Amino acid sequence: MFEKILIANRGEIALRIHRTCREMGISTVAVHSTADENAMHVRLADESVCIGPPPSSESYLNIPNIVSAAMITGAEAIHPGYGFLAENADFAEIVEAHGIVFVGPTPNHIRTMGDKVAAKRAMTGVGISVVPGTEGVIGSTQEARKIAGQIGYPVLIKAASGGGGKGMRVTESPDDLDEQISMARREAKSNFGDDEIYLEKYLANPRHIELQIIADEQGHVVHIGERDCSLQRKHQKVLEEAPSPGLNAEERERLGDIGCNAVRKLGYRNAGTLEFLYEDGEFYFIEMNTRLQVEHPVSEAISGIDIVREQIRIAAGAPLFFQQKDIDFQGHAIECRVNAEDPVTLVPWPGRVSDYHPPGGLGIRVDSGLYAGYSVPPHYDSMIAKLIVHGATRNECLMRLRRALEEFVITGVRTTVPLHQKLIGETDFINGRYDIRWLEAYIAAQSENL
Ligand code: ADP
Repeated sequence: MFEKILIANRGEIALRIHRTCREMGISTVAVHSTADENAMHVRLADESVCIGPPPSSESYLNIPNIVSAAMITGAEAIHPGYGFLAENADFAEIVEAHGIVFVGPTPNHIRTMGDKVAAKRAMTGVGISVVPGTEGVIGSTQEARKIAGQIGYPVLIKAASGGGGKGMRVTESPDDLDEQISMARREAKSNFGDDEIYLEKYLANPRHIELQIIADEQGHVVHIGERDCSLQRKHQKVLEEAPSPGLNAEERERLGDIGCNAVRKLGYRNAGTLEFLYEDGEFYFIEMNTRLQVEHPVSEAISGIDIVREQIRIAAGAPLFFQQKDIDFQGHAIECRVNAEDPVTLVPWPGRVSDYHPPGGLGIRVDSGLYAGYSVPPHYDSMIAKLIVHGATRNECLMRLRRALEEFVITGVRTTVPLHQKLIGETDFINGRYDIRWLEAYIAAQSENL
């Protein structure tokens, strides 16, 4: 097992990885920008290295500085967390070229899945259904027009290298297609440095359902159940739950089987997530995330498995010590992403936190680097905490979540706690009747009532 791991991330996820390392007896190296000198992950780590000024491009995305930090401190492995360099195949390759273990899949798998067109092709190759659309990237507008005509409008134009909910354009009719394609290309180029785009059927009212996978180097693959991440704003997740209230036992088993089979055939290793849109009884693959996800704690809550520990064990070459049949799913879990944002307009609200009192009690987990007196820097993502609640049933989970949100005190910055409080009191949510469009419509109605 490793003795020292460098955590190439910040915020709650850096802290979360540190905690598991500590439990495993592994010492940690934190890296940080000058804006994060006083961050909790830096305070708790055994060692820390400043890797640059506040902009991520000069610090958390600075490959030479991160690799140098690992070499100087003698870290044997790097855990990338999520975001930043987690899905950068070149980074994984450079890390390995320096004799350091990358805690994640092979650079080749990261590269294939990072190109959404290649990922869809790879999944089709192993027998998984994908959303109907162009087979590869769009060559000419005429070709796009022909395919859009065949699959039927509305269609969605997506960036092949896209991520984070960015670079997607819905096109309602052939009249707008040319214009939308050129705009999508420009956006893709400026956001992802690559103007390749593809086209997909825009599904009307699907749920976003994803499957958590863990695979070892010896070829064993298990899934840790699905997560329902349909509550989204601007294609970004806001609240996630496991299991999904929209699946029955037969559908759940089918999803687990198709996901594990595909991952086994691809020879994938470490943790990963297969994302699907689920509509009318069909699962359509949209993408695979080759890393730990923000919402992984809901799967941990219902399975009792520490996903980061498994990632580290697998990276060290150890085989999985449990099989699918050993995983005992218990109860229900919900995660609320708490952002430093105005709860109605959702405008980011960085600043100094004056009071911080997280909720506690049975079934409550709060992953956050906040403390009273901490200043939320304006340079990074606005997520400042995750509240994860576990209950024996969905109903118990909801009651406990309501109580936990009431207890949660964060003052000095605005947060989305009030949004979650309202949201979980809505009848549609309580009944589990929502799809990927529900939250946008709900937020729009709230803003109109201002
Ligand atoms: P990203 O990598 O940017 O997160 P995804 O491909 O995972 O992009 O899609 C993000 C979200 O966008 C999905 O969860 C879903 O809400 C929406 N979406 C993606 N593809 C489609 C589609 N074909 N039809 C309808 N909605 C879609």
